[in-house]
Amino acid sequence: MPRAAPLHDTKPLLLVDIDGVLSIFGFTQSQHPPGRFLTVDGIVHFISAQAGAQLRELSEDFELRWCSGWEEKANDYLPAVLGLPGPLPFISFERGPSHAGSHWKLAAIEQATAPQRPLAWIDDGFDERCDAWAAGRRSPTLLVATDPAEGLLEHHAVALRRWARALSR
Ligand SMILES: [Mg+2]
Repeated sequence: MPRAAPLHDTKPLLLVDIDGVLSIFGFTQSQHPPGRFLTVDGIVHFISAQAGAQLRELSEDFELRWCSGWEEKANDYLPAVLGLPGPLPFISFERGPSHAGSHWKLAAIEQATAPQRPLAWIDDGFDERCDAWAAGRRSPTLLVATDPAEGLLEHHAVALRRWARALSR
């Protein structure tokens, strides 16, 4: 029997960090991967072309949401640079030392996402508090860690897609 086409809002969320995932750093300057330099507020970023291509493909299986200190600024630059449809929704973070021992992104993610919504999160800055949070969510949750010198690579995208497709079975 044919499966019903998945509805847009039934796709899992993919929370997308930017620095260390799309904007990569720490690689050898003379051997940088394909991509382009982008200046944002006087800071030079290197946007990985490969990461952009992987993220475009992932947008078929996920609803993308920026999860980065770039916040809304991501939409001023990245959809155009990466060839993504945009603007994308973004998570806002409280400024200041109000995280009381928690990873700085977790409170805002909790507030911005429904507990029953399956969620994947790709980031280069996870710690054990993120693992504990993911393990405690009531719906499927996947954390995918990147190396900031390489960013989002094909093997990350393969793992994410496999996870998303297994959910809809
Ligand atoms: Mg990062």
